[in-house]
Amino acid sequence: MVSLASTTTSTLTSTSPFASTPTPTLDSTPTPTSMPKLPVVTLEQVRAQMGECTLCKLHRGRHTIVFGVGNPKARLMFVGEAPGEDEDLKGEPFVGKAGQLLTKMIEAMGLGREDVYICNTVKCRPPNNRNPEPDELAACEPFLKGQLASVQPEAIVTLGKFAAQALLREQTPITRLRGQWREYEGIPVMPTFHPAYLLRSPQEKVKVWDDLQAVMKKLGLERKR
Ligand code: URA
Repeated sequence: MVSLASTTTSTLTSTSPFASTPTPTLDSTPTPTSMPKLPVVTLEQVRAQMGECTLCKLHRGRHTIVFGVGNPKARLMFVGEAPGEDEDLKGEPFVGKAGQLLTKMIEAMGLGREDVYICNTVKCRPPNNRNPEPDELAACEPFLKGQLASVQPEAIVTLGKFAAQALLREQTPITRLRGQWREYEGIPVMPTFHPAYLLRSPQEKVKVWDDLQAVMKKLGLERKR
């Protein structure tokens, strides 16, 4: 179980992460001490505005727009880079091998995919999984901003160099960015490594676990086991 009260962090563990745990719910249901959040726009409205988007060249090679998935009132949003092949075919972010590891990372926090919101900086797969280009990012950013305005997360975790550099608009290496709280549109951002990188460099998981524990601390999440 996870406590929604912003209290104890002393039970956070620094032991090896990403083992599966039960997945309690986590949303931004107001507590007696917090103001209700009134979304000015719904995710459905943002998605409807995208339609069958042709604003950038990525639309030419896509099968599916990969908009986002999860709790529309999530307190925590994960932002990755761009859909890969599996995601392009399924229409859901992070469903391939890296996505399976992301799911384990979320579960290690005592949460489930349905508790958080997951999306990418761009919603269409770049050819051969290349990095999104500036014009593609610029075309897609209003939709990411719409998702943020709708979900109103209390924290964002960016996954990998590209998402962090794109959101923070700077070229600082991810090795320096990760683990440091930053801000995007007034929302705290914790940059961390991409799960695809962790598949290649599993020894780095401990650093990501440190970053996720910092997020748990900020959100007042408590992992009971
Ligand atoms: N990598 C990403 O950055 N996003 C996905 O959705 C899948 C893999």
